[in-house]
Amino acid sequence: MNRDLKDKTLEELEKVVVGLGQKKYLAGYLFKFIQVQNGREIGALSTLSKAFRAQLMEQGYFIGRLKVVDVLTDPDGSAKYLFELADGERIETVLLPEEERRTLCVSTQVGCPMGCAFCATGRIPFRRNLTAGEIVDQVNTVEEHAGRITNLVYMGMGEPLLNYDAVLKSIRILNHSAGKNIGIRHTTISTSGIVPGIRQLAEEEVRPRLAISLSAPTDALRGKLMPVTHKYPLAELLEAVRFYQANTGQRVTFEYVLIDKVNDSVTHARMLVKLLHGLMYNVNLIEHNPFSGCEFTGSSRERIQRFASALKDAGVETTIRFRMGRRIKAACGQLQAGYHPRERRKQVQAE
Ligand code: SAH
Ligand code: SF4
Repeated sequence: MNRDLKDKTLEELEKVVVGLGQKKYLAGYLFKFIQVQNGREIGALSTLSKAFRAQLMEQGYFIGRLKVVDVLTDPDGSAKYLFELADGERIETVLLPEEERRTLCVSTQVGCPMGCAFCATGRIPFRRNLTAGEIVDQVNTVEEHAGRITNLVYMGMGEPLLNYDAVLKSIRILNHSAGKNIGIRHTTISTSGIVPGIRQLAEEEVRPRLAISLSAPTDALRGKLMPVTHKYPLAELLEAVRFYQANTGQRVTFEYVLIDKVNDSVTHARMLVKLLHGLMYNVNLIEHNPFSGCEFTGSSRERIQRFASALKDAGVETTIRFRMGRRIKAACGQLQAGYHPRERRKQVQAE
């Protein structure tokens, strides 16, 4: 069993506390200490008796911490944190402050197994899933450095719906009213289109907002950019979205990375509108961000505007996502946490 107390919901902490022969309400002190005060050491939790603190530590319980290796700040206000995990793996987390809203973009895996052609994270080796504690601590540590987080997006390194249980658990911890209480409507999961995960999410009681990375209106083109299409073709993906909407009544966001002369024509925009007909949705357009070794270029401002107008003319609510953190390689699809793409090539060759 994972003995990291940061990895536990309040209900799980209650089980731990009761299992050690203590009163259940003490779990509330532990949860508050870890999740609200960002406490680091069990020994410093003075509202618990010394004997109980010693008992917890003897049993191997601890409060997990990520090590901050580096923090890069962009003149636009965004900041990129490079963290080292207990086993030496590395991840990145991005803070995006915009007036009242302070959004944290968290990672869910070390690397990503999905291999999207336009994404830097997809070029590095997939190492492992993060635990809920490791996801939660990205928030706790950045809050300690930079102040309160109001919004969460699961859009950092990794595919959140391939690490379903830890992702949902981290949301339950961060959303809990006795903890940070980050609003569920201020929390978004972005997926490349993992159909079983979308269907499972549709049945959850605590349900974040859902964003789906689409980036092409046909299986042929999407398959070239996003290999996940071969496993879950567009028809199946959109069927899952329909199921999600029938169950939840919530609209979804489709994200579309605009790559010059690849998927950014007005014809592509019209095909997209046709494809999504009947759904409740909005579209987020993202200019493709460059990274070394990438053969694609971002669309020009003019082509982006034309694509956006074609959607808007068809009545689709469309936003062009404001790019932040490009100068520190913290924008969408630029996170590599210092892993070298060559490592993946070696790994693929060895398989
Ligand atoms: N794996 C999840 C979440 C992380 S990626 C997903 O794919 O949805 C977050 C967003 O960044 C996705 O919408 C993805 O399409 C986009 N993205 C990836 N590479 C990009 C790049 N080079 N430039 C701009 N956006 C990119
Ligand atoms: Fe993974 Fe998302 Fe990047 Fe695709 S776009 S490789 S799913 S992180």
